[in-house]
Amino acid sequence: MTKSIPEPLWQHTLASFPFLAQLGDADLAHLRELSLGFLAKKEFHGAAGLAITDAMALAIAAQACLPLLHLATGIKALAWYDDFIGIVVYPGEMIAHRQTQDALGVHHDYSEVIAGEAMHGGPITLNWHDVADASRSARQGSNLVIHEFAHKLDMRDGVANGCPPLPSGFMGAKTAGVGHRIWQTAMQFEYSKFCEQLALHQRFGADAPWLDAYAASSPPEFFAVACEAYFVNRVFFARDFEALVPLFDAFFRPPGTYSSRQD
Ligand SMILES: [Zn+2]
Repeated sequence: MTKSIPEPLWQHTLASFPFLAQLGDADLAHLRELSLGFLAKKEFHGAAGLAITDAMALAIAAQACLPLLHLATGIKALAWYDDFIGIVVYPGEMIAHRQTQDALGVHHDYSEVIAGEAMHGGPITLNWHDVADASRSARQGSNLVIHEFAHKLDMRDGVANGCPPLPSGFMGAKTAGVGHRIWQTAMQFEYSKFCEQLALHQRFGADAPWLDAYAASSPPEFFAVACEAYFVNRVFFARDFEALVPLFDAFFRPPGTYSSRQD
């Protein structure tokens, strides 16, 4: 599958993931081009006995490339994912073994169940159960592939802080520092609002926020979870995160918002 994506396979992917099928013709053609380039650059590894089919690899490639659609022309945007090659796919959720050292120098070993992981400069780990469930989970604004690849966008400048490297002149900013402040101010506002809403729900039984509670873990997780919702359920995302819509539109540049970048 290196020269072209067979039409039946592409159509199968679009039928499986309606949030992809709803893109315009030009975006779909571009997504197909990016997906092909992605498949040529990345190596998939099935873990725990999972065999990766062409359809599974394409399902992951197409969702991973969705955020890249308007970040650059042609397939240049694939450079955002250049820091790694491997994509490890487990059949279901996996157990990650962690080692940390606290402020007193004491080592801690523990295990946690995770759905996926993006390592800085390393591979992406996913579980096929959640990838295949993306059509259903889009109603909750969830998408595992976009979550893990959003971490890659965030970490592109070497720091996982919920702010990807911004283009020059971001939202009219005269300097990079001003652009960064515009981003952080809007993100911090919505992150605090979300954490407060979640706390009211957990402590006092107020309505639960629509977005996954995991978003309250940290600013980088809030960015990754918000990206999921932005790409798979824009209507609900815009209802709950009004301040993030112009911010994300200025960064991801979907058609009809800002003119596409020429670089
Ligand atoms: Zn995450």
